[in-house]
Amino acid sequence: MSDTLFMKIIRREIPATIVFEDDLCLAFRDVNPQAPTHILVVPKQPVAMLSDANSEHGPLLGHLLLTANRIAAQLGLKDGYRLVINNGAAAGQTVFHLHVHLLAGRSFSWPPG
Ligand code: AMP
Repeated sequence: MSDTLFMKIIRREIPATIVFEDDLCLAFRDVNPQAPTHILVVPKQPVAMLSDANSEHGPLLGHLLLTANRIAAQLGLKDGYRLVINNGAAAGQTVFHLHVHLLAGRSFSWPPG
């Protein structure tokens, strides 16, 4: 886990466009955006995927969601946004460091693809 791409971004070993940081998480723009606004909210504590989390991670998971909402408010995303967590390769997860996608700026279909 210590050498995931996102740990390298957290340690500032590779560049990213950071939009928010606090003691628990870092948020930065996705390098391959799927919407006009596409931000990743990443815990500094390395957890590979949501299914690895347990009750001890509850406050951290809540913090990630509240942080995504805070960023949305700061960016003025008044028309809504979508949060996505891909859990596992079959669900589309490619970086095995838990993260929340914050997507906004276009219409989103349902069910998701
Ligand atoms: P997932 O497929 O849910 O694991 O999401 C991983 C996300 O990380 C994808 O949306 C990628 O575009 C994004 N990503 C990969 N490399 C970088 C990078 N260097 N900086 C920012 N985002 C990245």
